[in-house]
Amino acid sequence: MTATIIDGKALGTKVREEVAASVAELGHVGLATVLVGDDPASHIYIDLKQKAAQQAGMEARDLKLPSHTSEEALLATIAELNADDAVDGLLVQLPLPDHIDENRVIEAIAPAKDVDGIHPINAGRLYLGRPSLVPGTPLGIMRMLDEYEIPLEGARAVVVGRSAIVGKPMAHLLLQRNATVTICHSRTQDLERHTLDADVLVAAVGRTHLISADMVKAGATVIDVGMNRDEDSRKVLGDVDPSAMDEAAYMTPVPGGVGPMTIAMVLQNAVTAARLRRPEAVASPKN
Ligand code: NDP
Repeated sequence: MTATIIDGKALGTKVREEVAASVAELGHVGLATVLVGDDPASHIYIDLKQKAAQQAGMEARDLKLPSHTSEEALLATIAELNADDAVDGLLVQLPLPDHIDENRVIEAIAPAKDVDGIHPINAGRLYLGRPSLVPGTPLGIMRMLDEYEIPLEGARAVVVGRSAIVGKPMAHLLLQRNATVTICHSRTQDLERHTLDADVLVAAVGRTHLISADMVKAGATVIDVGMNRDEDSRKVLGDVDPSAMDEAAYMTPVPGGVGPMTIAMVLQNAVTAARLRRPEAVASPKN
């Protein structure tokens, strides 16, 4: 068997077109991004989000603050953006420099503008099955699963990784759709025993090719979140060995799978946030 490729690039483009149509309909959607310091990867991520937001017709505000910015100054900036009516969505790029308390910053973001879905209020809503703003990566994965009509009800889903931004919200979204969910992590014993049971396997670990073909059940749907830079080739490699394509029925490639969906869904969250903030527009939400 050779898996059908789940094309995140094409679907990401489709979502971005939907977002652009929603922005045109709403008239204005504002997204502000805040970056502190000069981490090169963070600069790339922010520039991609800024470009995508502009292409979708949003008012994209790009705040880049020096690495010595104090926690108080950052909190003051967030408070200003929270109060600014032209800003519908607000994200602070992580990681922050060591001298800044990340949790304090996350909790300072207005939950209604939290397009990364990481404020405890939004995480709690997801836990309770009443999500409003959900982190872009797991949200994008759900969209991919739906687009390819992967059955979830009653399916065995295994999520490898339990981070707050990917693994945990992923598990909750799958649970909400009535999958039977197992979460694996670095202390899981006999990982293969779990992964081999998975109808839907999500790998969000950050270890190149940790999941080999013989850890994948024949006919499974495999979602590879990993983005691991190979030091020699400089290529981005996934957490799943590409030879798993021979076992899986559906699989995401790396690159071109989950990555492009994440950015698209952050934009979609900005539209959701804009709709939530405008009661008159909530009646017919498309996003
Ligand atoms: P984290 O480092 O926050 O979490 C990694 C998780 O993997 C942890 O829960 C850890 O367990 C678990 N883990 C580590 N080693 C093993 C192992 N040997 N067996 C089983 N579980 C293990 O990473 P993120 O969730 O932020 O990201 C995961 C990957 O996804 C990275 O490669 C990242 O670059 C990528 N990513 C890609 C995105 C995209 O848009 N494509 C978006 C976000 C992330 P424990 O909790 O016990 O430490």
